[in-house]
Amino acid sequence: MSEKETEPTKLDAIVVGAGVAGLYAIYRLRKLGLKVRAYEAGSGVGGTWFWNRYPGCRCDIESMEYSYSFSNELQQEWRWPERYGTQPEILRYINHVADRFDLRRDVQLNTRITSALFDSKTNAWTIKTDNGEVVTAPFCIMATGNLSTPRTPSVPGLKSFKGKVYHTGLWPHEGVDFTGLRVGVIGTGSSGVQLIPHVAKQAKHLYVFQRTANFSLPARNAPLDPEKERKHKAEYPDRRRAAYETPFGIAGYPPPVKSAIEASEEERRRTYAAKWEEGGSINYLYAYTDLLVNKTSNETASEFVREKIRATVKDPRTAELLCPTDHPIGTKRLILDTEYYETYNRDNVALVDIRSAPINEITLDGVRTANVEYALDVIIFATGFDAMTGAMKEIDLRTDKGMTIEEKWANGPRTYLGIMMAGFPNLFMITGPQSPGVKSQMILSCEQHVDWIADCLQHLRDSGLHRIEPEKAAEDAWVQHTNEVADGTLYPLANSWYVGANILGKPRVFMPYVGGVTAYRKKCDEVAAKGYEGFTLAV
Ligand SMILES: Cc1cc2nc3c(=O)[nH]c(=O)nc-3n(C[C@H](O)[C@H](O)[C@H](O)COP(=O)(O)OP(=O)(O)OC[C@H]3O[C@@H](n4cnc5c(N)ncnc54)[C@H](O)[C@@H]3O)c2cc1C
Repeated sequence: MSEKETEPTKLDAIVVGAGVAGLYAIYRLRKLGLKVRAYEAGSGVGGTWFWNRYPGCRCDIESMEYSYSFSNELQQEWRWPERYGTQPEILRYINHVADRFDLRRDVQLNTRITSALFDSKTNAWTIKTDNGEVVTAPFCIMATGNLSTPRTPSVPGLKSFKGKVYHTGLWPHEGVDFTGLRVGVIGTGSSGVQLIPHVAKQAKHLYVFQRTANFSLPARNAPLDPEKERKHKAEYPDRRRAAYETPFGIAGYPPPVKSAIEASEEERRRTYAAKWEEGGSINYLYAYTDLLVNKTSNETASEFVREKIRATVKDPRTAELLCPTDHPIGTKRLILDTEYYETYNRDNVALVDIRSAPINEITLDGVRTANVEYALDVIIFATGFDAMTGAMKEIDLRTDKGMTIEEKWANGPRTYLGIMMAGFPNLFMITGPQSPGVKSQMILSCEQHVDWIADCLQHLRDSGLHRIEPEKAAEDAWVQHTNEVADGTLYPLANSWYVGANILGKPRVFMPYVGGVTAYRKKCDEVAAKGYEGFTLAV
């Protein structure tokens, strides 16, 4: 045993991950007087915005909303240059937050947590790092992210390819120059759609390998209007409060008042056209009350977008391939783009349909589908993440009573409120499965969870208690409720990462809570107010 292993570092709370969630956890837990430290696999803070440096990466919620609310000074000071922040801008902001609140001294970078074990006699978690360090604390907070485990499909021959291979979620810091190169992009989800127009402008030739067409709407990004910024800042505290009273945690969009089928066709077209011009995904889904619950209504919104695609893309065959037909609009992450469909009118861009002719192998020289071999210098995987459960399952997470995360989530995740799991005392998750996290403005959801956890730890301390764990019955009821809510919507119809469909062999379970931020937060607050109803608390 090394000296490090015999002398574990002792903390009050361990945080795993230093993205927006982990950093805010340090801030809040420090205020309770706790000795806290975040362990981060990356060489910098920022999580998503540290790793995803591909060209075109930016947020799809307006930056005045997609930002921390915990400090009014911070939100008044910071200036977002554009409507939607770029990845470098958001990363700059998160680094600013880390410095402004002196958070870095409690972040240990370049450190991956490989295992976590709960000891029920001492009520403490012991974690091990990939550097061999051992750390113990009564509480462990997983701020490991929902979209932090990039996945490359195992295509035969990938290792033999003599060109360069990239994944959008692990983009090189020095950037990539595609000038004069033949590039293949595999995947047309959000990252692919953001990246493709940028690569097309540089590459000699770009092949886009598409299995599933996804709906994308124009972002209508622009420099932030100073008058709009001034007004928003003047209303900030009210707007932040109002955000919690909305389904997606985003204020400023008038809620819909009627069903799409109650409107005449002409009225619908006018509404959708206005939303299309304005840009934004929530805005579009807010056109009518029932777009996410009624297939007929949804089809009117879906078809409007298909018509726009057909009107934009000149080659009719390409246009048809780009028209999504296998899921209702909004049931997969609705993408925002800048000139995505227009890109297919360029002479150097070709769309390859790998639904009808799948990729058989990657060769020394490129990609071979059932029909053709495409010679390439570069392959970019825009194939996403092992979403929502991947990062937690990569850790050897277990208790001395024999519980393991592998077994616990073998048939899909099970949690109480997406915050804790029965069988894993004193282990908290931020925006875990069965919480609205990925279906909301995520910084708001991270703040809500961290605040709830901080209040819970304060309560335990005030009550002389040292252990908290959900009751199995409460967890079962929450999982059932989450499923019932999802089954009342169109979401489960889509083969999305919300159901794990992008990962071969992953159990098909709908993972987010889609009852909305308002209902969810109310439930969390009620649980706390009733003395942590559904949890067992002990000394
Ligand atoms: C390309 C992209 C665009 C997005 N755009 C939006 C948007 O517009 N709006 C929105 O609301 N959300 C968006 N998201 C979701 C985004 O993930 C969240 O908004 C937010 O950044 C999540 O923060 P987090 O701290 O919870 O997780 P992350 O930012 O994922 O951070 C988790 C951190 O944990 C670290 N980690 C994981 N496992 C370990 C381990 N075992 N040991 C040590 N460290 C570990 C990771 O390295 C990572 O840095 C986007 C996601 C992606 C990928």
